[in-house]
Amino acid sequence: MEWGKLTLAGAAGTRGDDGWTPVADPATGETVGHVRMCSAEDAGKAVAAAHTAFAGWAGEAPQARGAVLRRLAGLISEHTEDLATLLTAEQGKPLAESRAEVASAAGYFDFFAEEARRVNGEVVASPRADSRILVTHKPVGVVAAITPWNFPVSMVARKLGPALAAGCTVVLKPAPQTPLSALALAALCRMAGLPDGVLQVLTGDAATIGAVLTQDPRVAFLSFTGSTATGRLLYGQCAATIKKLGLELGGHAPFIVLPDADLDKAAALAVAAKFRNAGQTCVCPNRFFVHDAVYDDFLRRFLQQVDRLVPGDGRDPASTLAPLIDEAALAKVERHVADAVAKGAKLTRGGSRAAAGRTWYEATILENVGEDMLVSCEETFGPVAALSHFTDVEEVKASVNASQYGLAGYVFGRDISLVLKTAESLDLGMVGINAIHLGLEMAPIGGVKQSGLGREGGHAGILDYCEQQYLLVGL
Ligand code: NAP
Repeated sequence: MEWGKLTLAGAAGTRGDDGWTPVADPATGETVGHVRMCSAEDAGKAVAAAHTAFAGWAGEAPQARGAVLRRLAGLISEHTEDLATLLTAEQGKPLAESRAEVASAAGYFDFFAEEARRVNGEVVASPRADSRILVTHKPVGVVAAITPWNFPVSMVARKLGPALAAGCTVVLKPAPQTPLSALALAALCRMAGLPDGVLQVLTGDAATIGAVLTQDPRVAFLSFTGSTATGRLLYGQCAATIKKLGLELGGHAPFIVLPDADLDKAAALAVAAKFRNAGQTCVCPNRFFVHDAVYDDFLRRFLQQVDRLVPGDGRDPASTLAPLIDEAALAKVERHVADAVAKGAKLTRGGSRAAAGRTWYEATILENVGEDMLVSCEETFGPVAALSHFTDVEEVKASVNASQYGLAGYVFGRDISLVLKTAESLDLGMVGINAIHLGLEMAPIGGVKQSGLGREGGHAGILDYCEQQYLLVGL
């Protein structure tokens, strides 16, 4: 598939001259493409075009919008290999993970194609015989979507799916490390029949584009996925125009192993959750809390699984451990490991840059991790598993709930009463119970506390892109 022939605002191309910026392959450092550095003026034009297109798209029958999204889901599935190859080239994750991400994106569009026709209103019982109360949902308007680099296809799909289904138009700013996947999705949107102006993609400087998107009163909703620090900044920038906000921010997931857990399953899923995309996922476990009674048995199984990981180029089918996205990500991981070791953690595995090259870091295991270490309070966003053991689950709950983050966590155990009580007591938006794959399109994804506002996915996901209108009808 030739993705280079795009004519969107943030078009991909092959030039390296002024006004264009290269996109690098994190595995090799080679340039995989160039994208335009859109100006503030480009951003303003994109908002204007989305604003103009809104009435037409919102006025389409929900079935018609759903049909476009269903065609889009089909095109994404049809072009899985092209999209996955592009995703791996600019993001670095193993092809198998890229294919799974593309499938997840198709799933979001397919789900919201259905939801488009289920935005139902309500007739509320009126206190008076001579009046009726109707409540309807209307699309909120122009949506600004800003996305991160770690899931460059599915994070875009999670926003576009519900926004387009609801009848909104979208101006999308993807992450600079991974803009090509977003542009490829936009090309497929055109092929699916999305009308002109309904989706605009802006590549370029975040602060320049972000200033326009957060300050322009024609943008009704900012839907952001990224770090808590950037989310906080954008929250402030949106105050002047009182935008609706959806914030999917950072996390610090605990992985709790209770004494009666199925240890084979817990260890296998712990490794899968921790090392997917080299630990660069918002829901990946940052800390492991393992009960004293099973600590050694769990660790043995965990190490066996970790030793099977193969760092390598994502295009090699044997590779299971991705590179980190860039040098800054690597430096953060090194800082976390050095800090933990300096404060008394035991380095059981790894702890160095991996021989695979460039930005790979070894699968690393730290034991005896204490509350005062950086790994215990900040997102590491790398292949580092920080383990500690516990006797009383109350200590674990206190530690987890003291965090500023509240995105996701995992509880493994067989005593359903203890497992459920533990999961319910955690201040987290999502908990996997003997399970790890939380990112399902029919479920509400999102966090509490400084992990964000609102939910993406599920029926509530589309309502976030709507405003209620209350109609009092006198008879
Ligand atoms: P990030 O640095 O916050 O960047 C996210 C996006 O925001 C990028 O497109 C970035 O562009 C843009 N941005 C930064 N400053 C901006 C500004 N002033 N105005 C407008 N846009 C701005 O996050 P990241 O490193 O890409 O992604 C990793 C983070 O995302 C982690 O914290 C992870 O937990 C979180 N995440 C959360 C979820 C979730 O569902 N809760 C899912 C995935 C990732 P530039 O890079 O050009 O600055």
